[in-house]
Amino acid sequence: MSASPSPPTAGRAWHLVSRPHGWPAAEDFDLRPVPVDRPGPGEILVRNLFLSVDPAMRGRMNDVKSYAPPYRVGEPMTGGAVGEVVVSEDPSFAPGDHVVHQLGWREWATLPARQALPVPAGKAPLSAYLGVLGMTGLTAYAGLLEVGGLREGDRVFVSGAAGAVGSQVGQIARLRGAALVVGSAGSAEKVRLLREEYGFDAAFNYKDGPVAEQLAEAAPDGIDLYFDNVGADHLEAAIGALTVHGRAVICGMIAQYNATEPPAAPRNLAQIVAKRLRVEGMLVMDHQNLRPRFIEEVAGWLASGALAYRETRREGIGNALDAFLGMLRGENIGKMVVAL
Ligand code: NAP
Repeated sequence: MSASPSPPTAGRAWHLVSRPHGWPAAEDFDLRPVPVDRPGPGEILVRNLFLSVDPAMRGRMNDVKSYAPPYRVGEPMTGGAVGEVVVSEDPSFAPGDHVVHQLGWREWATLPARQALPVPAGKAPLSAYLGVLGMTGLTAYAGLLEVGGLREGDRVFVSGAAGAVGSQVGQIARLRGAALVVGSAGSAEKVRLLREEYGFDAAFNYKDGPVAEQLAEAAPDGIDLYFDNVGADHLEAAIGALTVHGRAVICGMIAQYNATEPPAAPRNLAQIVAKRLRVEGMLVMDHQNLRPRFIEEVAGWLASGALAYRETRREGIGNALDAFLGMLRGENIGKMVVAL
């Protein structure tokens, strides 16, 4: 490991300067210098190495009450990051340690040590702790197994299937004995990846035709479990395809994050009654207790080659906004990360 660089007095951080209406525009953000605070007792100073950009950040740009507070206009944004401890004023970390924390969107972060999670040395590339072994991976693992209660023989449909969460959901379903795994994604290249490299039984491009029709073709006898990353017409199609006592895990609804009007679909919610469906929202923050088991099991699958993952990387703090907007547009395969 190289010696820790001595910290500068200032670094750069992405600020929200106005709240987007609909699709975010470059003018809503600014990369500005901020002081690098020296850590006080119980704190650490971290040089960020990888930043996460996530769909949920779009929600935090709105001034609405939700599970996470809105970003404040004129202030730096926050989000997942992996970095190297450069100065530690807490016995739990030493310089050179790697940590995951929530002061992303910036080059340097000063934070209480208790708000950082240690990254084990040498087990996996550091950026994996933002994706396959990090927040999105735990979302897939907890959502499918705990909330969705996946059973052997289930027929599973996952939307957003080539993304960070979705690609892991489909592969875990296969590894845990699903009888059929179907995925939808937004390009021919992504569909090929799902079928040929991730072992999905069927996959389709939702831009090629109505989701309900393509899903009916891929799962002619219906599905038992739907993992929703998209909402809207995907959710409507899944409700239509779910069998009696089917389950839907509502993880995200990215189709409407930039919408300025309420979605037209789903129009078939009455089928929840007729089919006695269980439809349950989930948040990864409720499932932190699973983290040790998740890391152990997923690291095992990665080591044996049973589970594959990709990430899409953008380089440099200056490209973090492009990475975020590109992810919303579907330019990523697997987790979108920014390497600093
Ligand atoms: P991701 O799937 O890696 O990236 C987002 C993807 O969404 C894009 O690559 C794009 O792929 C797809 N997309 C964008 N607009 C779409 C649209 N209108 N219709 C269909 N697909 C669209 O992101 P992620 O981090 O893994 O998150 C996936 C979902 O999980 C999101 O809904 C997110 O909010 C949710 N999530 C929830 C939790 C939780 O705790 N509940 C935690 C993490 C993530 P295509 O090319 O396929 O369109």
